[in-house]
Amino acid sequence: PGTVVGSLNEDVLVAVGRLPGGGETVIGRSATLAPGGKGANQAAAAGLLGPGVHMVGRVGEDPAGDRQLAALASSRVDVSGVHRTPGVPTGSATIPVEEGTGENLIVVVPGANAELTPDDVDVDPVHRADVLLLQLEVPMDTVYAAAAAAGGRVVLTPAPPQPLPEELLALVDVLVPNEHELVQLTGATAGARTPVELVALARSIFGPVVVVTLGARGALVVRRDGSPALLQPPPPVTAVDTTGAGDCFCGALAQALATDRDLPAAVRFAVTAAALSTTGPGARGALPDAEAVEALLPR
Ligand code: ADP
Repeated sequence: PGTVVGSLNEDVLVAVGRLPGGGETVIGRSATLAPGGKGANQAAAAGLLGPGVHMVGRVGEDPAGDRQLAALASSRVDVSGVHRTPGVPTGSATIPVEEGTGENLIVVVPGANAELTPDDVDVDPVHRADVLLLQLEVPMDTVYAAAAAAGGRVVLTPAPPQPLPEELLALVDVLVPNEHELVQLTGATAGARTPVELVALARSIFGPVVVVTLGARGALVVRRDGSPALLQPPPPVTAVDTTGAGDCFCGALAQALATDRDLPAAVRFAVTAAALSTTGPGARGALPDAEAVEALLPR
């Protein structure tokens, strides 16, 4: 079993003909609510891939909170560790998406996610998880406390990117940045990078194994035992919406590690699950089950 400590958000997706500039008003064509938050997206992906997934987090005492709990429960996630904070809204992300280009803007209101405390994470599902999944959409001291309380392996998605204290990195077994997050974390200048350059950046980070997700190119595994870096490409899929692909990757990686796959096999599983998740709309519109992933696994 695996546990996710992290954010639950309600995404408000607004279709616009053109993104607004500063001070400008544009008329949207539609607004759609969707369950979101990096933590909850990772939990939903893991839950659909196997049993025993717990979510630890906070929502408000509002209808948006009800919707986030119901959405997670329908993805087979145990939500008994999600608490409700009175007087604070459930976290939200308002996302105008430009029709045609898919370009977007994102405004996040953390709401109840900002109220998750170190005490909230000193609980059985954290102590007992084979794999604990963390991201950075809840307070850093809570992320640290969760890593410190973990009984099993710790997987951290460093998003949204921010400086990582060495005390935290020392508790992390696998760090999973995307290319953009890796560049930010290492203070490198932005721009296209070859796999060889990415490996060098990953090796410059103190501590854990680094698995860099590279979109349509798959994922790069950089270990500390002197073994060569490994690039795992995804199986061929027709991607229609890559929102949340990284979150599906992490949920799948945790499930695979919890079922005793070794790291290369777990990354193969995660790359395949994440590729499948891009074949439908939104962060959770095409999350695969285990049979679908197995059927497409590169041999
Ligand atoms: P993020 O969602 O954090 O930006 P990435 O874009 O790196 O993360 O995607 C995470 C994973 O999703 C990749 O490692 C890959 O397995 C899968 N993926 C993403 N985009 C595509 C794509 N266009 N085709 C196939 N797989 C994809």
